[in-house]
Amino acid sequence: MLHLSRRGLAALAITASGALAAPALAQQAFPSRPVTMVIPFAAGGPTDTVGRLIAQAMSAELGQPVVVENVGGAGGTLGAQRVAQARPDGHTVLLHHIGMATIPTLYRRLSYDPVGGFETLGLVTEVPMTLIARRNIEANSLAELVALIRRRGEGLNYANAGIGAASHLCGLLLMKAVDTRMTTVPYRGTGPAMNDLVAGTVDIMCDQTTNTTEQIRAGTVRAFAVTTPERIAALPDLPTSAQGGLPGFEVSVWHGLYAPKGTPAPIVARLNQALVKALQDEGIARRFADLGTAPVPVARATPQIHREFWQADIAKWRPLIQAAGQFAD
Ligand code: ASP
Repeated sequence: MLHLSRRGLAALAITASGALAAPALAQQAFPSRPVTMVIPFAAGGPTDTVGRLIAQAMSAELGQPVVVENVGGAGGTLGAQRVAQARPDGHTVLLHHIGMATIPTLYRRLSYDPVGGFETLGLVTEVPMTLIARRNIEANSLAELVALIRRRGEGLNYANAGIGAASHLCGLLLMKAVDTRMTTVPYRGTGPAMNDLVAGTVDIMCDQTTNTTEQIRAGTVRAFAVTTPERIAALPDLPTSAQGGLPGFEVSVWHGLYAPKGTPAPIVARLNQALVKALQDEGIARRFADLGTAPVPVARATPQIHREFWQADIAKWRPLIQAAGQFAD
């Protein structure tokens, strides 16, 4: 379906009458200025890392800078709100993660529509998560970490990026699997949370490999498990949660690109085309591989598949979140 703004309609009308055709066409060119890519978490974290790589490659394809703006806070809802309420002209896009599928259930009151407020532009990547802790934690294996959590419970601090963040979701699953609650410490993103974990001022975190791989390799944090069914090539020595004794403690984080609802179809198509180009960039594929992830196959990077995947993930997480009974309000 073709959506046109009032301005666009006026421009078309003028073109049809034969007058001012060239300026009217120029007015329709997209993008006509830099595109803002909102990252709903703090700079330096995993969503930021993925977003900046994609933004750079999209800039080259679009012929305009794609400028990252970090709007962290409230588990990724503040950044999402900023884009849902932006002008639907393609110059503001959102790179978000699995939170797009959990927020509609976790937040029963929001000042934007967490599903209907967006056009999907395409899936970007799927990233494993890792369970990590400050390097001097009193545990050497996942079994010992589980015993420590059961012993110390709320005496341990679990860092996350707010309710709705992947780290929050992973923490919910962990605390359910261990049947013990820890004290939750929310940040605007797991970039700043990682700084505190490395400094040892918080104890435990679960975060995407795009943020943890280099710290794990450098030994600045201790890793206990990867939350995928298989081990990953970037961290081959790290057992899966099932191998470590917590079967069912599994989650992987997907990212997608969005525009505000009502963005015209030709602009959606242009942004998707630039995204697909970015996903085919060899430099990005290499960097992603080094961080334990990969671009989605381009056949899956369509707005339609993205929307279907997103809807299915909302349905998948809803009963689990409802059973956990922990909502943001
Ligand atoms: N990894 C974070 C999360 O917990 C978000 C981020 O900082 O990218 O969802």
